[in-house]
Amino acid sequence: MSVEAQDLDLCGTESRGKLELGVGTGLVGWDEVNQGSVLPAFEGDASAIAGLKSEERTYSEFNSYMGSVASWRVEKPIFNRDICIDCQNCWVWCPDSAILSRDKQMLGIDYDHCKGCAICVDVCPTNPKSLLMFNEHADLDESLAVWPEKKKKEKK
Ligand code: SF4
Ligand code: SF4
Repeated sequence: MSVEAQDLDLCGTESRGKLELGVGTGLVGWDEVNQGSVLPAFEGDASAIAGLKSEERTYSEFNSYMGSVASWRVEKPIFNRDICIDCQNCWVWCPDSAILSRDKQMLGIDYDHCKGCAICVDVCPTNPKSLLMFNEHADLDESLAVWPEKKKKEKK
């Protein structure tokens, strides 16, 4: 698989991540919502939602899935497909469900929802790591070109 997988819209609907949270939406903040209000996460009947793939679901405008937190990041993880062993550690540990994985294969980062916490980098077990943090504006190909070499074991 090519590294372009990182750009794919695996979990996308057309409007996913298009809402810049809190900017000109006219929506009230979390501390302004009336007690007892119900904010539906999905449009219509959601009783079978668990059986649908994320891109098949009908998200309501209140669903955090529809918002983007990309502007919060100063650093972003970059994924190197050539080293990854598809262990799924990053997918399990990411607190924002921002690791894209299908059929137990790591595919890349959902940059609309990644907050740049670097937990995925910490838990990646490969040598060198298959995920590394780079400046938010770093170019994918340039970052892959300076990927570190495998570290040799130190002799005791
Ligand atoms: S940097 Fe944090 S939020 Fe982004 S993909 Fe990694 S674990 Fe998830
Ligand atoms: S933790 Fe590292 S090796 Fe494991 S799936 Fe994620 S990127 Fe690949």
